[in-house]
Amino acid sequence: MEYRSTRGLLDKKSSAFCILQGLAEDKGLFVPVEFPELNISFDEMRNMDYKSVAKVVLSRFLTDFSEEEIDFCVEKAYDGKFEKDEIVPVIKVGDSHIVELYHGKTSAFKDMALSILPNLLSVAMKKTGAKEKVCILTATSGDTGKAALEGFKNVENTKIVVFYPKDGVSEIQEMQMCTQEGNNTYVFGINGNFDKAQSGVKEIFDDGDFAEEIKVRGYKLSSANSINIGRLIPQIVYYVYGYGQLLKNGAIKEGEKINISVPTGNFGNILAGYYAKKMGLPINKFICASNENKVLTDFINTGVYDIKREFFVTNTPSMDILISSNLERLLYDISDCDSSLVADLMEDLKENKEYELPDKFKGKLKEFYGGFATELETKNQVKKVYDKYKYLMDTHTAVAHKVYEDYRNESKDEIPTLIISTASPYKFAENILDSLGENNRYSGFEALEKLNEKTGVPVPKELKILKEKEILHKNKIDDMQMREAVLKTI
Ligand SMILES: *Cc1c(COP(=O)(O)O)cnc(C)c1O
Repeated sequence: MEYRSTRGLLDKKSSAFCILQGLAEDKGLFVPVEFPELNISFDEMRNMDYKSVAKVVLSRFLTDFSEEEIDFCVEKAYDGKFEKDEIVPVIKVGDSHIVELYHGKTSAFKDMALSILPNLLSVAMKKTGAKEKVCILTATSGDTGKAALEGFKNVENTKIVVFYPKDGVSEIQEMQMCTQEGNNTYVFGINGNFDKAQSGVKEIFDDGDFAEEIKVRGYKLSSANSINIGRLIPQIVYYVYGYGQLLKNGAIKEGEKINISVPTGNFGNILAGYYAKKMGLPINKFICASNENKVLTDFINTGVYDIKREFFVTNTPSMDILISSNLERLLYDISDCDSSLVADLMEDLKENKEYELPDKFKGKLKEFYGGFATELETKNQVKKVYDKYKYLMDTHTAVAHKVYEDYRNESKDEIPTLIISTASPYKFAENILDSLGENNRYSGFEALEKLNEKTGVPVPKELKILKEKEILHKNKIDDMQMREAVLKTI
């Protein structure tokens, strides 16, 4: 397996190189030159546990890693840190199947990849004989930051620096990050929204002089955002595992197609599902669910990606994103690997704040269904599902559930669907209480207790103990000060 950049004519690279590097030198994203076959029989798939699926999927992509190295990374990642033995429960709720990806340390799906990325990176450093230590830079809309901090804390030869939009994350998310322990963890609140934090990080990555400056200090930069291929590949695993669970519980027959509905922000999660299909997993429709920042809905429906629009802060903050970086990988794939087209489109986006997919490729977007839910629709969905099935979902998951229902009603397509659940309802407890009719009367930790009282759903262990933790990170900066902040940490 080899990888290349979405934007240019760079040499082909190994997976270890790409995991270390994060972003390609020409500012593109690394993509596999071709997709490996999944090559698991449905009979096997039905009986495999999460770790076994992970080992197979990873070994297909990371062919420069030995079997022992992959075993080590997987075993270390998906252990007792997860509150459920099965790692990822798949729960039947009404006519859909909810894939709960939030039982890791930080109560959001980012743990699925960020529990393993640091292990992959450590092994990659050894394999490539890297001389420099690695400084991980991460912009977060709330969940990636904490998951990356947890994953990388005290990992040898690394530092982890997280930037979050000061007014764009929930109180619990902010507490999770600002109480982070570890001798190599740094957290900064940015004045501005997520796109500002993300653009700031991208600019630092693009800055050759800065790279030189930190190289002198013995470091190189890398990324824990879903632009890193080492984060994307572990996300393919739960689609394969989810399919296996549907086989196991008799919801589908071998080879039968399923739909998946994904609450989408940066397009990483849903792209991993698309990659699972490229490997041979029988998927029919990708239901791409957005909130009121519905750039992706419009793109799927028109082929025009246009960010000249108002930015909304919603009750699904992890999806409050206008620039979905991983879409670049989809553009590359549907344009038959036309890297100069991708480079042009990305230039258009930067210069003109929009781009349009050439007509001849627009048909390929038909594999996707784009829809969105307003804040009110999202709240109503949380309440409706809770009232009807006593199943408590978080707001992000509710967006996917609502758009799934829209799709079903419009298309009359009733094949089994996996709804990807990306956060514990407790991570956004205020919004959930609000959805259940408590009208913003509770906030922060009080909301956790109240929600528990009201529903009886257990509070995740790590959130329960958060209140007692000491605030260790208090830095608030402007986006212009991000370089300086990074330099200080090393
Ligand atoms: C990150 C995140 C998303 C969006 O995932 P992408 O891979 O960025 O599309 C959705 N929900 C939650 C809770 C998240 O943390």
